[in-house]
Formats: sequence, C-alpha cells, structure tokens
Amino acid sequence: MTDPQPQTGPSRRPTPGPGGSPALIVVPPVVVGGRERRYAIRPARLALLLALVFAAGAAAAAGIATTAWVASGQGGLREQVTGLETQVAALQQQLEELRTQAAGPGATDPVADPTPEGAEEPEKLALRLPSADTAPTIRVAILRTAGSVELRGEGLIIVTGKDKAIPMPGGLAVARRGPGGVFVEGVGTLPDGTPVENRLGAIEVGGKPFPGRLELHRQGDELLLVNELDLERYVQGVVAAEVPSSFGMEAKKAQVVAARTYALMQRAGAEGPYHVTATVDDQVYSGAAGDGPTRAAVATTHGEVLSQDGYLVSAYFSSTCGGRTEDPIHVWPDRLTRGVRSVACGFCDDAPYAHWSHDIAPARLSKALADAGYEGVGDVTGVRIRERSPSGRVTILEVQTSDETIELSGQDLRAAVGWTPLKSAAFDVKVKGDSFEFEGSGFGHGVGLCQYGAQGMDQAGRTYREILGRYYPDAKVTKIY
Ligand SMILES: [Zn+2]
Repeated sequence: MTDPQPQTGPSRRPTPGPGGSPALIVVPPVVVGGRERRYAIRPARLALLLALVFAAGAAAAAGIATTAWVASGQGGLREQVTGLETQVAALQQQLEELRTQAAGPGATDPVADPTPEGAEEPEKLALRLPSADTAPTIRVAILRTAGSVELRGEGLIIVTGKDKAIPMPGGLAVARRGPGGVFVEGVGTLPDGTPVENRLGAIEVGGKPFPGRLELHRQGDELLLVNELDLERYVQGVVAAEVPSSFGMEAKKAQVVAARTYALMQRAGAEGPYHVTATVDDQVYSGAAGDGPTRAAVATTHGEVLSQDGYLVSAYFSSTCGGRTEDPIHVWPDRLTRGVRSVACGFCDDAPYAHWSHDIAPARLSKALADAGYEGVGDVTGVRIRERSPSGRVTILEVQTSDETIELSGQDLRAAVGWTPLKSAAFDVKVKGDSFEFEGSGFGHGVGLCQYGAQGMDQAGRTYREILGRYYPDAKVTKIY
C-alpha cells in the first residue's frame, strides 16, 4: 500500500510566538480560510542529517536496511513495519531530498519519489492505455546497500554480452559497488547495469526468490539491485505482500487491478534504472510469492486495469480510510492525479486500526520536529488544529513552542513522528497528563482503495468491480492485454 512520501521537505512557517507560556496547552481547533505552505530543508540540518544517514548506511551494511528494502514477508501489513524501518525510511527520504536540493532546481531522484513533479506532470499524466499482446515487464528496485549482497541460484550466470555469460560456481555471486561500476567477487569489476540470471529458476536474495532477472546498478556510493520481471508475476507478489491471506477473493481481485494499474502508471512516468521501489513508497513486493487464491485473483483479472477516458487512473490505495477516503490534493498538493477523489467508505469499521490513539510527550515532539529539519524548535507548549480537509484529515496544524509557532500539515507531522505511530492525519489532539494524546481513525494516507473497506465489501457479498466502483467512482475496468 502506498503511504504518503511528501515530495517536498518539511514545512515551517514562523509566526509571532504565543508569549512563551510554559503551560502545556491545547488550543481548540478553529477553521481559517486559505492555506499557505512552503517547504525547505534547512542547510543547517545538513551536517546532522548526513551523520544520521551515515548511521543508516552502517545499518545497511549490517543488513538492517536490507530488511527495510526487501520489506516484510507474507502479510505485509503496516503493523508489521518496525519503528527502526520507519526511521531508516525517513532518513533515506531526507537524504534523497538533500540530494535533490544539492542537484539544483528541477532535479528529481526517482528513489525518493518516482512520480514526477511540476512541469513534467501533464506529460507524464498522458498515460494512454498501453496495448500489448502479453504483459509487459516492470523494473523494481528491491534493495540498495552500501555493503555487499549475496545472490544465489543453482544456474546463476553473470551476463556479460550477447550470448556471453560467466557461470557462477556454487550458484553464488557476491556483489557490491565497485570503482567505475559494480564488483562481483571472483569476477571483477563489471559495467553498471550488468544482468544476473538463473537458468534454473528464480534468484534468491535475502532468502526470498525473485523471478526474472536482476541487474546490478551503481547509484552513488551504493549498489542497487533491480528486478525486471513480468508484470503479472510482479502483481502476484505485491498482492501476496499487501493483502492478508485471509481476505476474500473479490477483495484480492480488486487489489490486483489497483496494483496493476498503479504499476503501469509508475512505469509510464519513471526515469532512471527502475519503475517502482519494493517498499511502501510504492507497493510492497517481496519477490515470488502468492498462494492459490492470490494466483487465481491475478489470473482471473489478467490484463485488467482502471481507466478513465482512455487513460490510466491514479490507482492509489491505503490500509484503512477510517470512514471516508481522501482527495489526493490534500496529501500531494503538487501532484496531478486522475480518476480518484474522496468518497464515503463505510466498510472498514472493523479494521484493526479503524480507531487508534498515541501519546507523545512534548520533549519527544520537540526532538522529532528538530530531527526532521524544522529550525528553532524550542520546548513544545501546545498543539492546535487549525484546518481540516472535507474528509476530516488535518491539513494545517500549529505546534507552539517556547520560541515560535511551527505550522505543518497532519501528513508532515506523520513524516516527522513516524508513519506507524501516527497512523493517519485524521486525528484529534488533547492533553493527557504530561503528554499530548492523539486520537485518530484509519491507517495510511486514505487516497483511493481502502484495503479493509474492500474486504468489508467482499464480506458483504460485493464483486471486485463493485468494490473498485466505490473507491474509483469515475473509472472503469478495462482489459488491455
Ligand atoms: Zn475505509
């Protein structure tokens, strides 16, 4: 499922301070018109962030980031995402933002955000439905590491040219970034993008089998593994990771069609060596997986996508909307989308995170905001909700500190505090003892298909087309191959 990865850095808009009241206060919500946000990562945070990112790199060498990239196995629920993974993901995101800024205006980094921004959007949105006799392939970034990675397979070969390959004795290749390209132990330095194949089946990485081929890419100081495979096999792996096996067949089929559409959307707009990542940045993918019902859900909807007027729909989805899905403009203000808008759900009341609460001590909130790049964060004294989207999600939040008032969105706060602890932007906040108590509903950004709502509709006897018709009301299901 896709969680919002803000395309822009943390926002901060200093306003005259509230007088530095030492008391822990929560000002009642008031609604004001208009919204004004600006985004920047302060250069002053660069040294700290680089230090943190270095620490993340060390974690990657120790195999921790591998977990983050290859993602969790069966189930793939957000509740399985550990706090450490969240922190690493946040650090990676901040690094990508810094790299983008360092590269200058207009630069984009597909790792941070494969969806294009700004002036490129209209062209990228011209996602005419592709037509093909068979499923296209898709390229998935499955792992990035500053260390080395082991690729295994009985028939493993390094492809060095047309009809030329180096068989790997023992079915093992140990690869890492090398000078001027990539490096495989026992073979030497190879060009960037060198393919690795297994003539006898899938290639195993981190104990997980990846069908198709893997490519060894050098990206900066790291080795990037890209898995190129048949789109239908990919979608099967996504649904196996994204949807609990206990979900019904119609819910799974709806998820398959949404995941296939999302993948093609990203494929059409991608630049660089891959189309999507294997994490919640796009869709969780852990290699070849899927039980009989998952395979059946893919097979019976073979080639079906969501379309509107001959174009692909922006088929976002998230775990639990909490009652009403969100309009994408409130999550990604500068991203153009097609065929997705806020609708009533009403089928996710029984979801594990239909309702949640989370306490945050003022000191922790101060540190989270400072760590996220907000400048001049003093001791937090109050939190005030100023504006909500029509679906009820917080769009403008004021955090009052001893120095000044910081303004940010609910999604910005989630990015700072953590996507998992603060499960959605649909929350209220009040003082509870020495802490702020956030009480909210739903899990994820809430745009598009509500996964638990889809299961609720399945259990109510609805078909996958009816499910898709609820969450993408302007779209139709079209078979393109
Ligand atoms: Zn829902």
